Amino acid sequence: MQRDTYVVKRSFLQWLQKQSNPGRIVNLCFLVVLIFSTLLTWREVVVLEDAYISSQRNHLENVANALDRQLQFNVDKLLFFRHSMRDALQTPLAFGVLHDAVFRFKTVRNTPFWQLAVDKDRTLPINGVSDAFVEKTTLLSRDDERVNNELSAALELGYLLRLASSSPQREERVFYISRAGFYLSTDTTSQTVDIVSRYYRFVTQPWFTQQSERENRSRAIRWFVSPPTAYTGNAPVITASVPIYYDHYWYGVVAMDFALTTMKRFLMDAMDDHTEGEYQLYDSRLNMIASSEPSVRHINRFDEREMAQVAHAIESDTQGEIRMGTRFVTWERLDHFDGVVLRIHTLHEGVRGDFGSISIALALLWALFTAMLLISWLVIRRMVSNMYTLQHSLQWQAWHDPLTRLNNRDALFERAKILAVQCQEKSLPLAVIQIDLDHFKSINDRFGHQAGDKVLSHAAGLIASGLRSNDVAGRVGGEEFCVVLPGITLEAAAGIAERIRARINSKEILVKKSTTIRVSASLGVSGSQEKGHYDFEQLQSIADARLYQAKQSGRNQVVWHDHEKK
Ligand code: GH3
Ligand code: MG
Ligand code: MG
Repeated sequence: MQRDTYVVKRSFLQWLQKQSNPGRIVNLCFLVVLIFSTLLTWREVVVLEDAYISSQRNHLENVANALDRQLQFNVDKLLFFRHSMRDALQTPLAFGVLHDAVFRFKTVRNTPFWQLAVDKDRTLPINGVSDAFVEKTTLLSRDDERVNNELSAALELGYLLRLASSSPQREERVFYISRAGFYLSTDTTSQTVDIVSRYYRFVTQPWFTQQSERENRSRAIRWFVSPPTAYTGNAPVITASVPIYYDHYWYGVVAMDFALTTMKRFLMDAMDDHTEGEYQLYDSRLNMIASSEPSVRHINRFDEREMAQVAHAIESDTQGEIRMGTRFVTWERLDHFDGVVLRIHTLHEGVRGDFGSISIALALLWALFTAMLLISWLVIRRMVSNMYTLQHSLQWQAWHDPLTRLNNRDALFERAKILAVQCQEKSLPLAVIQIDLDHFKSINDRFGHQAGDKVLSHAAGLIASGLRSNDVAGRVGGEEFCVVLPGITLEAAAGIAERIRARINSKEILVKKSTTIRVSASLGVSGSQEKGHYDFEQLQSIADARLYQAKQSGRNQVVWHDHEKK
């Protein structure tokens, strides 16, 4: 039990010693600095990324807002037309010309197609179809009680439409399509040709049919993308339409057409001087309507999977961002258009921008810091390991005799005293052997000092070779050695001393070229059991006295009893 706690205590001390290894501490310190610098850099990167995202959002928001303002202007115009039409239906102008035109309607209403024009330079003509045509279609209705009033109001609206679209830059076309079989259009080309098929085409377009009471309960403005036809100049057009209601009766639809080029112009105007990044305008079904990229080749295209990602994103929110490989896409729904604006920022553009250069600088700084840290780590590691080796070698030199590589006198006394205390605590015996080479002086005299040194180290090797790991051997004088044997009785120590003596005496040593000599040693042994005390110096002096006796008795022998020869 006591032994177990001793073992635990010892292994803990060894572990502590290992932990306090300066090399490990240096490693740990550098690792901590590296981790902290990396964490700090990482934090900077996160902050930078947030700033980048909000800057992207800002850019997009500015463009989306400007685009919305452009569209709002047109939406407002459409609402103004609806309002004017309602006003005209409520209180028609009592002008004679209007009355005459409406009167003329009675005479033409049964012809396949007709036109009522009042002052063609100031207002728009009304183009119409026959009663029979209207009756064929359920969505249409020519209510006799309302039609005259509506015609008069439409002529009034025609005046406004013409006024609003007289400016030469106006690229959009405005229509009033009545359910009562007639229409007004600011598109004055081929006004009289093809009235029937035109009217038919208008009333079958989604922007008309989907404005019925059932389809558009909120009666709000709706946007539609129409495929290219001969009527639209073989280009797809965007149509905004709003239903006209008065007195709970659905009269028709006011609609406004925009060519894609108009939408593109709106987008470009909205961009102002935001030259970096591409903007794309999509309708609600994610058909691209316009791109800010002047060259078709450079437009960023998305594959089906990426488009599905966008579709999924816009379902749940009004704005957001998506990372698509090397492209960063921010998107925002428009308030005045049923669609979405995308801003596409490629990695290439990002790197060239402010955020790119800051990111690169940050990465370089981190790399530089890490490289310097690694270099200083290597240097300090080497210095520490050199110091460690130096410390070890100095320590070894302080405790050992360089010639025999055994403990020196101080070390032997130090360790022997510790062993004596331990043996006493555990009530174990302790034995001491004192050894002196015989006639050593004459070896020096005959063969020289170097030969003497050789004999010394040879004898030391023979003494140390037969010992256990916890025995301690040391050189205590010129050619005097001492061996401390913990846990060994006097008798057993005498046996060990005898083996040492025999080993030293058994071998010829080559001292010079072709000259060998045989050396001998005298040994004195003492043990703690004899008098029951563990004082090492005393035990050593007893062993020394017995060594003297051995010398006296003729050398090359072991003495382990006072006044007795063995
Ligand atoms: P004995 O002990 O048998 O009475 O005779 P001895 O000749 O060994 O006598 P003593 O112990 O007085 O002699 C010790 C000699 O050891 C004296 C010295 O010249 C020699 N000596 C001491 N240290 C060294 C050493 O480091 N190297 C060499 N070569 N000789 C040493
Ligand atoms: Mg001697
Ligand atoms: Mg001596």
